[in-house]
Amino acid sequence: MTESETRPGRHAVVIGGSVAGLLAARAVSATFERVTVLDRDALPAEPVARRGVPQGRHVHGVTARGAAGLESLFPGILDELIAAGAPRADALYDYHYYLDGHKLARGTADTPNYLVTRPLIEGLIRRRVSSLENVTVVDSTEALGLLTADGRITGVRARAVAGHDPERDIEADLVIDAAGRGSRAVTWLADLGYPTPDETVVRTNVVYVTRHFQQASGQPGGRHAVVSGAYPANPRSGAAVRQENGQIAVFLAGILGDEPPTDDEGMLAFASTLAAPEIAEVLGTATPLDEAAKMRNPASSLRHFEKLDRYLDGYLVVGDAMGNFNPLYGQGITVAVLEAELLESLLASGLDRLAPRYFAGAARVLAEPWALAAGSDLRFPGVEGERDPQQEQAGQYLDLLRATAATDARVGAAFLRVANMLDPITALFDPALAARVRQTA
Ligand SMILES: Cc1cc2nc3c(=O)[nH]c(=O)nc-3n(C[C@H](O)[C@H](O)[C@H](O)COP(=O)(O)OP(=O)(O)OC[C@H]3O[C@@H](n4cnc5c(N)ncnc54)[C@H](O)[C@@H]3O)c2cc1C
Repeated sequence: MTESETRPGRHAVVIGGSVAGLLAARAVSATFERVTVLDRDALPAEPVARRGVPQGRHVHGVTARGAAGLESLFPGILDELIAAGAPRADALYDYHYYLDGHKLARGTADTPNYLVTRPLIEGLIRRRVSSLENVTVVDSTEALGLLTADGRITGVRARAVAGHDPERDIEADLVIDAAGRGSRAVTWLADLGYPTPDETVVRTNVVYVTRHFQQASGQPGGRHAVVSGAYPANPRSGAAVRQENGQIAVFLAGILGDEPPTDDEGMLAFASTLAAPEIAEVLGTATPLDEAAKMRNPASSLRHFEKLDRYLDGYLVVGDAMGNFNPLYGQGITVAVLEAELLESLLASGLDRLAPRYFAGAARVLAEPWALAAGSDLRFPGVEGERDPQQEQAGQYLDLLRATAATDARVGAAFLRVANMLDPITALFDPALAARVRQTA
C-alpha cells in the first residue's frame, strides 16, 4: 500500500488552477489520495499573463504575512523568488511610501515584501504543486457543473476546451471552487436547490492602469518602490515598483469614475497629481516595455457562506470566488494563503462536517483583511457601503496616526505591519502607540 492510499479522502477536484486553487490543492494533498486541479486556460510554461487571469498584467504586492505563509506551505519558495530576480524590500526602509499625501519617515518595519510579477509567483507555486506526487494539474479543461447525490458532492462535469472530446464526469468526494470572480458557485448551488449566501458589497469602482518600463539607474527614487496611497483629499493612487527582469511596473488607479488614461501624456498628467513625484519621473524618462493595460474592479464583495443553514456536503469555495478584496490593498494572495492554512488545519481533525467548519473558520479569518480594506474604502464619501459610527470615530484617530507617521518612523512601522497583516488592526490602538500619536498631534 502506498502512502497516498492510506489517506482518508479519495479524490479532491479543484476548479481553477490560479493562486487560490493551487494553494488549496497543496492544503488538501496530505488528506486525499488524489488531487486534480482543473483550469480552462492552457497554462503557460513561461511566466506570462494569461486570459483567465487578466489581473496578471497588473502590479501584485504580496504582504509580508502572505510571503511567510507561502514559505511554510512551500519551504524555500522565497529564495526561489529572489533567485528569479525579485527584489526583497522592507516597506518602510526600501520604499518611498506616501500616506495621506505625506512621505513616511524612514525606518524599518520588518515587513519583507517580494517584488514580483503575478505570472512569476503563480508559475513557481504551480511548479511546486505539480511536483506533489498525488496532485495533477489538468489545463484546457473547463468545469461545467457539480455532480451530487443524497445531499453531497460526487464530482464535477467537465469538458476539454479545445477539440471535440465529449463532456465527462469526474468523480470526487471533495470539490473546491477556486474559479475566481467569475465562479458559478452561487448559480450552481441555486440550481441544485441549496440556499445561496448574502453578500456584503463596498462599491469603489476602481480602475487600474499598469505599464512596465526598463529600469533606469536609481529609479524609482533610489529605492525599490514608491507607493502613493489614495486619501479623501486626493482619491488617486499609484506606485512604481522594481521587479524581476530589471523592470519597473507603474500602476495608476482612480476610483468612482476617475479613470487613469493609458496614453503616454495622459498617464504622465495623472501621475503628476499624485503626492509622489518619483512615479511621474519614471513615466517621463524610462523606456516602456509594453502597452498599458487597464482593468476595472467595480466593488469589493464578501460572500457569507458561513450564514447558510444548509450546505452541499463536500463543496468548498476559496479565493476570489468567496471574497473579492479591493486590489489596491494587495490582499488577495494573502487571503488565499490564510484559507489554505485553515483548510489544512481543519482536515487534520477529519472530513466530517467540513463545509460548515470551513466556512465558519473562513469568516473569522477574513474578518480582519475585510475590515482593513473596507475601512479604508469607506473613508471616501462617495463610496457606497454600510458605515458604522464607531468606525468613524476610530477613523479620526487613524487620520492622526497616518499624519504622525510622516515624522515618527515607529508609527509608520506600526501602520505598515498592520497593512502587511503581520499585526492585527488593534495594534494601532495600543496605548503606547496612541500616546505617541496624540503627543505629535
Ligand atoms: C487589478 C488587480 C490587482 C490585484 N493586485 C493584487 C495584489 O497586489 N496583491 C494580491 O495579493 N492580490 C491582488 N489581486 C487579487 C489577486 O489577483 C487574486 O486574489 C488572486 O489571483 C487569487 O485569485 P483566485 O485564484 O481566487 O482567482 P483567479 O486568479 O481569478 O483565477 C481563477 C482561475 O480559475 C480558472 N477558471 C475559471 N472558471 C473555470 C472553470 N469553470 N473551469 C476551470 N477553470 C476555471 C481561470 O482560468 C483562472 O485560472 C489583484 C486583483 C486585481 C483585479
